[in-house]
Amino acid sequence: MADVRLEGINKAYGTIPVLRNIDLTIDHGEFVVFVGPSGSGKSTLLRMIGGLERISAGRLLIDNAVVNDVDAADRNLGMVFQSYALYPHMTVRENLAFPLRMAKVDRVRIHARVAETACLLQIDHLLDRKPRQLSGGQRQRVAIGRAIVREPKVFLFDEPLSNLDTELRVQMRVQIAKLHKQLGNTMIYVTHDQVEAMTMANKIVVLKDGNIEQVGSPHDLYHNPASRFVAGFIGSPK
Ligand code: ADP
Ligand code: MG
Repeated sequence: MADVRLEGINKAYGTIPVLRNIDLTIDHGEFVVFVGPSGSGKSTLLRMIGGLERISAGRLLIDNAVVNDVDAADRNLGMVFQSYALYPHMTVRENLAFPLRMAKVDRVRIHARVAETACLLQIDHLLDRKPRQLSGGQRQRVAIGRAIVREPKVFLFDEPLSNLDTELRVQMRVQIAKLHKQLGNTMIYVTHDQVEAMTMANKIVVLKDGNIEQVGSPHDLYHNPASRFVAGFIGSPK
C-alpha cells in the first residue's frame, strides 16, 4: 500500500518555479533517497511532505488521504534535519520525551518509550546530559531518537549526516540502515552524496532543476541511466 503519493506537485516561490509536476509513489517500508545537486529542490520536496512548506498545486496523499491542508503535527511523521535543533536547556531524556508530552501521552507510556528509544540508539547512558555535553554523533542519535519516539509511520531525513566527519558518517549510515530494518517503516532521505544514495536506498529519485530525472533502484540507475546527467551524477560508466 502507498504510504505517500505525490500527484502533479508544483511549487513556486513567488513567480519562480522550484518543483514541476512531481509524480511519485512511495510504498510502505521503502527506503527512498532524493538525490541531486544543490538547489535541485530536494529539501523543498521533503518539507512539503512534512507539512513545513505549502504546496502550490497538485495533491499530496498520506495513507490515501489528501493532506495538503493538514498541519505538520498531525501527519505523524518523524523528521531529522541537518541542524539537529535539540532543545539546549533540556536533558536528553527531556528532549526525547518532548514530542510525547506535546501529544499528551501519559507518563507511564512516555517513560517506557523513552527507555526503548534510548536503548535502540544506545544513548541510555546519556539521558541526564544536556546537548552541549554530547559529541556530534551522540547529538545526532538523540535527534533521530526524538524523531522516532512517537513511532511515526514515515520518517523524513534532510542531509542528517552532512555535518559529521567521514568515519562517523559511515557509522551513522549503518545505524540508520539497521533502524530501518528493525522498525520496518518508510524512510525518505535527502542527500547530495551519491555514495549515500547508492548504499542506502532501495529507490532513488534523481532531481535536477525541480524535475524528476529518473526514479529507480541503485542497480537500475547504475546500469540504465536515463540521461547523461544521471550517469554522471551516479558515476555509472555510460
Ligand atoms: P536542495 O535541497 O536540493 O539544495 P532546495 O529545495 O533547498 O534545494 O531549493 C530549491 C530551489 O528553491 C533553490 O533554487 C532555492 O534557492 C529555492 N528556495 C528554497 N527555499 C526558498 C525560499 N524560502 N524562498 C525562495 N526560494 C527558495
Ligand atoms: Mg537541501
